[in-house]
Amino acid sequence: MKKQLTALILLILFFSQGHAQDSKLDHRKLKEASDKYKESSITHRRFKHIDIMPLVIKRRANKDFQVEELGKSVEGREIYQLAYGNGQKRVMLWSQMHGNESTATMSLMDIFNFLEGKNDGFDAIRKAIEDNLDLRFIPMVNPDGAEAFKRRNAYDIDLNRDAIHLTSPEARILKGARDNFEPEYGFNLHDQQIYYNAVNTAKPATISVLAPAFNFEKDINEVRERALKVIVGMNEVLQEIIPGQVGKYDDGFEPRAFGDNFQKWGTSTILIESGGYPGDPDKQYIRELNFIIILNALYEIATQQYGQYAVEDYFEIPDNDTKLVDLMLRNVTIKRDDLEYKVDLGIRRREVEADSAYYTESSILDLGDLSVYYGYEELDAEGYVMTEGKVWAPAMDMKLSQKEAIEMLKKGFLGVTYDFYPDKTHDLPINILLENDEYKSGHTVGSTANFFLEKNGEKHYAIVNGYLVDLRNPEVEGVRMRVY
Ligand SMILES: [Zn+2]
Repeated sequence: MKKQLTALILLILFFSQGHAQDSKLDHRKLKEASDKYKESSITHRRFKHIDIMPLVIKRRANKDFQVEELGKSVEGREIYQLAYGNGQKRVMLWSQMHGNESTATMSLMDIFNFLEGKNDGFDAIRKAIEDNLDLRFIPMVNPDGAEAFKRRNAYDIDLNRDAIHLTSPEARILKGARDNFEPEYGFNLHDQQIYYNAVNTAKPATISVLAPAFNFEKDINEVRERALKVIVGMNEVLQEIIPGQVGKYDDGFEPRAFGDNFQKWGTSTILIESGGYPGDPDKQYIRELNFIIILNALYEIATQQYGQYAVEDYFEIPDNDTKLVDLMLRNVTIKRDDLEYKVDLGIRRREVEADSAYYTESSILDLGDLSVYYGYEELDAEGYVMTEGKVWAPAMDMKLSQKEAIEMLKKGFLGVTYDFYPDKTHDLPINILLENDEYKSGHTVGSTANFFLEKNGEKHYAIVNGYLVDLRNPEVEGVRMRVY
């Protein structure tokens, strides 16, 4: 009897331990946590240092966090580090060393909220992290770049090419934090342009990953192997949520970059790059994905679960490519002079920062056989002829409504002129010009994408600065244009 009881207890112990060690986190549960703990004061990706400072500093009141100012940026903005956890494994996470790559900073704010919660069904995850990890977070390494929403710092240096020279105070701060702490694991958090796709597919690389090389030979030592395995775990979760939308970054060694050098200095370094997702211009969905994969990875490091993964599975992740465009028009007929030919047209809309907003400037990226390119938006324009728009020259004195702008398009105008316009940017699907000669269009690579698509002499589509407007069913959203 006693023997049986012992066996039973052993059996229970075996299963309960086995369960605790082997169970992977359910991504739906992590999604729930993301919804619950999303920092509501940040709603778009152009937030500034001043917006996150209160969220960092208020953690001083929470004994679970230690908040420390590490130093200041070129322009005097404080860079903080938050510490959390009582465990042995040292993990460092830093975000936004490129000022306009803000997605993961939002996720870190959400993670701070999550770590402060309790009695919400997530305590086991939190406890595993708190008991096993010694965490250091450095959100927004480049606050001056964030202020201007640009990549580089106030010296116009790319911090990710300054890991060795350490010319920038921000680079010295990051290196100093690393040297003090000597993390075993590091998360290097960036954004990539939205035009990355998983190679040979139309799927955007919504998240790209990399365990950077530490030498030109791209060797795999124990340090890099740990990073490769953590990434395999992240990829497994992502494949369940966004199948096919993960890309692997090129692992060519960059001797000046932080990620590569962290790996070289002995920190198993994981690069996460947030890319594009259809209909998510402010990357609020990708913010959730970051929350989910970062927490998942922290949990798997805390429990050492990631050790189960195979290095080969990392190399199975498709490579990144950059074959996406905002708008792909297939089989457009171009007639000019006495020439006639049929091409695919790939159009991108580049974001440009304005004072308090941003606008886009479109251009034809390429034309011809673009079968290896893919559009976030695609139209088969078989049977359609590209035609030029007109500019309404008499100066207007009233702002147009969206409906009126579309009426102008239907009459063949792609631009309207004003002597004066009160705003610098607008959201109308028509070019607003202060002088007639600022209107640009064309049918060659690099041209601004302003034209109509006609069939049997009828205008069915307007392409206004790269935005597609279906004139028979005009629903226009998300247009961001400048006043010329
Ligand atoms: Zn970057």
